[in-house]
Amino acid sequence: MTQEYDLVIIGGGPGGYVAAIRAAQLGAKVALVEKDRVGGTCLNHGCIPTKALMRSVEALRLVEEAPAFGVIVEEPAFDFARIMARKDEIVARLVGGVEGLLEAHKVEIVLGTATIPKPGLVLIRAANGDHRLATKNIIIATGSVPARPPIAGLDAPGVLTSAEILELKEVPDSLAVIGGGVIGLEFAGIFHALGTKVTVLEMLPTLLPTVDGELARRYKSYLQRGGVEVHLRARVEEIRPKEDGLAVKVADSEEEVGAEKVLVATGRVPYTEGLGLEELGIKRAGGAIAVDEHMATNVSGVYAIGDVTGGTMLAHVASRQGEVAAENILGHPVAMDYRAVPNCVFTLPEIAGVGLTEEEAKAEGLDYKVARFPFSASGRALTIGETAGLVKLICERGSGKVLGMHIMGPHASDLIAEGTLAIQMGATARDIAETIHAHPTLPEAIMEAAKAAAFGEAIHYRKRGKEGQKCLISRS
Ligand code: NAD
Repeated sequence: MTQEYDLVIIGGGPGGYVAAIRAAQLGAKVALVEKDRVGGTCLNHGCIPTKALMRSVEALRLVEEAPAFGVIVEEPAFDFARIMARKDEIVARLVGGVEGLLEAHKVEIVLGTATIPKPGLVLIRAANGDHRLATKNIIIATGSVPARPPIAGLDAPGVLTSAEILELKEVPDSLAVIGGGVIGLEFAGIFHALGTKVTVLEMLPTLLPTVDGELARRYKSYLQRGGVEVHLRARVEEIRPKEDGLAVKVADSEEEVGAEKVLVATGRVPYTEGLGLEELGIKRAGGAIAVDEHMATNVSGVYAIGDVTGGTMLAHVASRQGEVAAENILGHPVAMDYRAVPNCVFTLPEIAGVGLTEEEAKAEGLDYKVARFPFSASGRALTIGETAGLVKLICERGSGKVLGMHIMGPHASDLIAEGTLAIQMGATARDIAETIHAHPTLPEAIMEAAKAAAFGEAIHYRKRGKEGQKCLISRS
């Protein structure tokens, strides 16, 4: 039997399920097709489980540092099975929450694998038989899968993807991480804190290529001081099993890194398998589906959102794209706006940025100035015992318009919301500097950096002395 919908969405990640809810709120009859569990990679194998693990690691670290807070703990220890079970409980609860939201909005969840034989029709293959869904519109939100780089031996036992490492039963003695990007460094931090000997191998001359260079360099020193081995300009070309684990071979070098487990974190690629895109004549850009600013593909009535469209593969971008697609489909024209997209790395300490990095401002030939404020000068940071890092503000010289904000330090991923709003609204450093920020809180560090940018100096730093000199450095 063929059923009629206004919208069928393929893929229930943070792009697809948000699009479904928004479309339902606008009065559409919506079906959401999912072959696994709603929530997608982010909720089931990405953002959420890693943050749950990271929180356990933070708890462990706090217990280890307890004597510095005047708290006596006999012998800090952890139970890995319990850490993993807590992660699974959180994921299950959130998956249930998303299912509940979809139900409340009368979105029909259809379990199965979708193909698009022609615009207006979606074919579902499922354990309980095939169905056909007739629909006015389709949104493809099928996400991405880990890239398989040209490395020999990727299938050797013990070589893990970012999803597989989340299912480990025991903490490995040693871990080689291929790729010093976001995923690689989040896992490097988690397992290092649990006692694993971690080696990061990155083929580029820097870690975290999308992060402001100054912060990426600082983070690298921080990692190394903490005992993580970092090899830059190290392109891995082969992984070989050996008696006690795996040997990871770097190109053009005699170097070999031995490790019990290897994590491959070398990027992700759009996932379009089985959709029938070629037959439909959907335009592609590389492996990604090409879309316009309304998230429409070149085929009328077919939209695409999230990782499958390439570009910035972030859950929050996918969600906004989902809202934009739903609104356009339901007659509320709106264009995607990428001016203010926060980028967060949930390492210890966290790193977050929005707007232009200093490298980008330079490459665009902009006349800018940079102001900084270290967390070591923040009262709040001192009280919570997390003084590593800084706020770095990049402003247009003259107007003072905020071009970029980059933060490494406690709660950087939360703090960056202020920079995101500033950029979205075209705010200046003076706007932030003259806004009263609660005391004692971490966002005061943003206000202080803004004062340094707007007035040449912050309030809470010594004009002389090491940290003070670092507060305001103009472009030479
Ligand atoms: P990435 O692109 O951030 O990093 C991959 C790294 O692997 C690059 O630095 C690359 O130079 C390196 N590399 C590639 N081949 C190599 C080789 N043979 N040897 C050594 N190094 C090699 O990709 P990722 O970390 O896998 O993340 C994938 C996507 O998921 C990204 O788009 C990322 O933004 C997103 N993501 C975001 C978050 C977050 O926002 N916190 C978390 C996880 C993932």
